[in-house]
Amino acid sequence: MNALDIQGLRLRLPGTARPVLDGVDLAVGPGETVALVGESGSGKTLTSRTALGLLPPGAETSGTVLVDGEDVLTTDGRRLRALRSGRAAMIFQDPRAAINPLRRIGDFLTESVRLAGGASAADADRRAAELLDAVGLGPELMRRYPGQLSGGMLQRVMIAAALMGDPVLLLADEPTTALDVTSQAEVVALLGRLRERFGTGLLFVTHDLGLAAAISDRVYVMYAGRIAEHGPAADLFEHPRHPYTAALLAATPALDATPGRLSAIDGQPPDLRRELTGCAFAERCAYATDLCREEAPEIRRGAACHHPLEGSRTDG
Ligand code: SF4
Repeated sequence: MNALDIQGLRLRLPGTARPVLDGVDLAVGPGETVALVGESGSGKTLTSRTALGLLPPGAETSGTVLVDGEDVLTTDGRRLRALRSGRAAMIFQDPRAAINPLRRIGDFLTESVRLAGGASAADADRRAAELLDAVGLGPELMRRYPGQLSGGMLQRVMIAAALMGDPVLLLADEPTTALDVTSQAEVVALLGRLRERFGTGLLFVTHDLGLAAAISDRVYVMYAGRIAEHGPAADLFEHPRHPYTAALLAATPALDATPGRLSAIDGQPPDLRRELTGCAFAERCAYATDLCREEAPEIRRGAACHHPLEGSRTDG
């Protein structure tokens, strides 16, 4: 069974002319790391939050979002809360914004386990110390306050907290954005090690293609609320078939970038107040034809494109 299985997800918000998420299919297998990439506003954060049943006010949904086999779109509030404090957990962008500065780290870590009522205080403390060790921190941190820790240490604490309920699915939304470069690399390496040790499925949401290539087994590229392309990470980055993926890669600065090498994608994503006919990328795509403007492309061989780029992709 997949850790996460999203099928045909549509999400509509008040005041929009078309769905914000429009037929999203996405899966994360047990122990698999999957990156979800795209520009701001592409729907990637909304998709990952939907997996925890965290929907914006007034949202109307259809489709299925199965976490460890349970549909979070139809389950009741009690089961949803239990799911969030156990089988699925999220690591947020900014650890300082997600943690109460007035509570000791130990109380923060053991809170979800104590609330679930499944463990004694001593067992919860022991588990918290074990997980602090797993993320490379000492048990003495249990008595410290968030303000006494660096951003990198605090993000490790957030990861330990997310693992407290033995999740099958970990959702990481730009978890390194607020960190310095050294802490970013440490957190990425740590997530990779933890995935191997605990067998947790990881959905890694990022706008950073280099990071996605470094950490993931498979990648989904999102554009205007739809999946534009998906496939094994190495293959997709080497041989993108969708013009949007190719444009994103071209706009990603290489480590050896010299001034003038960075290219931006011309134009803007389509306005949500306007209906869409055809391909969402048509207005920005150099390969667009009349067919593209009239008919939305289905995903074939991993790419939602009427005129996919030539390449030697091996996925089906
Ligand atoms: Fe470009 Fe057409 Fe492919 Fe859309 S369907 S990405 S407009 S070639």
